[in-house]
Amino acid sequence: MSLIDISPPAFDLDVALAYATPDNITGKPFYRADARPYLHPKAVECLAVAIALARPFGLRLKIFDAYRPVEGQWALWRASPDPEFVADPSKGGPHNRGVALDLTLIDANGRELDMGTAFDALTPLSHHGRTDVPLEAQRNRLLLLGLMTAAGFEFYTNEWWHYQLFNARTYPVVAQSDLPSPVMD
Ligand SMILES: [Zn+2]
Repeated sequence: MSLIDISPPAFDLDVALAYATPDNITGKPFYRADARPYLHPKAVECLAVAIALARPFGLRLKIFDAYRPVEGQWALWRASPDPEFVADPSKGGPHNRGVALDLTLIDANGRELDMGTAFDALTPLSHHGRTDVPLEAQRNRLLLLGLMTAAGFEFYTNEWWHYQLFNARTYPVVAQSDLPSPVMD
């Protein structure tokens, strides 16, 4: 089954793929500048619910990563071979199956809400349930957690930004060649 491009305007969200920029844990881009965010159709159904749940709060979703080629998993693994934060590429993680996404919330002006740490901050402060980040950040994390959970996603305890479908590993790993356009060269 092919994945679906979740770019606006078809989806009312922002996309800023961190791995298409140098601002990521490897220090350089490893996605193409024109990389598109792809998700499995089941994850897209849940995403649409999350978008609708955020809207009455004047909030939108900002996507940092969605489908990630296995080649990209290796790039991250080489930079941070820590299974607490990066799924082992040899097994294929949820992102490689198109059923996971990394995201935050933005306000009406497109500003990211304070989540206490940056995306991909490999520190225990990124874990859910931390009471030593500012209270507003705790509230924002809980709001994202509530929206995404109500929409049908499973959270990941070590990363406030990561959500995935339940039973993620029952979905097949997707090859770039099965997509309308490549994410990586
Ligand atoms: Zn993730």
